[in-house]
Amino acid sequence: MDTDVIIVGAGPTGLMLAGELRLAGVRPLVLERQPQPRDTPKANGLGGQILQLLRYRGLLERFSAASTDPSPAPRFPFGGVHLDFTHLAEPPLQGLQLPQPRLERLLGDRAGELGAAIRRGHEVVGVSQDDATVTADVHGRTGRTG
Ligand SMILES: Cc1cc2nc3c(=O)[nH]c(=O)nc-3n(C[C@H](O)[C@H](O)[C@H](O)COP(=O)(O)OP(=O)(O)OC[C@H]3O[C@@H](n4cnc5c(N)ncnc54)[C@H](O)[C@@H]3O)c2cc1C
Repeated sequence: MDTDVIIVGAGPTGLMLAGELRLAGVRPLVLERQPQPRDTPKANGLGGQILQLLRYRGLLERFSAASTDPSPAPRFPFGGVHLDFTHLAEPPLQGLQLPQPRLERLLGDRAGELGAAIRRGHEVVGVSQDDATVTADVHGRTGRTG
């Protein structure tokens, strides 16, 4: 199968990238080794500049509908660092409660609507290239393809 770009992994990064590439007129193929979207709880929400980016893309309303509206975050834990904005008149940070499985579903839906191809149950096991092309070796449900 020929495509412009292969994205390895349908996590938030790969799915967001797939949508952005479609907006730029590029045909991406997302290959994800997991057969189904995962329900594993990872991140619980979005905070900071990504909310501005979603607003800029006209997506914030859609993402907010799957969550609560963005709300000021007077305190924000980031790894081992706990940011405390309570001494400021207005907290500079907004937060959106959105568990990662739900976020991935939204990003996957958007990438699909824009025309990105997403193949689950496909693991990239090798990559080779020459001057003109890149070839990925893929283990899929029906065996190995290149
Ligand atoms: C327990 C936990 C709690 C977390 N909590 C937070 C939090 O509160 N806030 C926060 O911002 N972040 C949190 N994170 C981090 C957040 O989950 C990651 O930053 C995010 O998942 C990164 O997205 P990604 O798309 O880059 O990578 P991933 O989500 O890791 O996605 C990569 C995808 O690539 C696939 N893949 C890998 N290799 C191949 C291959 N060879 N072929 C095909 N597919 C492949 C994997 O199956 C996976 O689906 C947490 C993470 C964990 C584990």
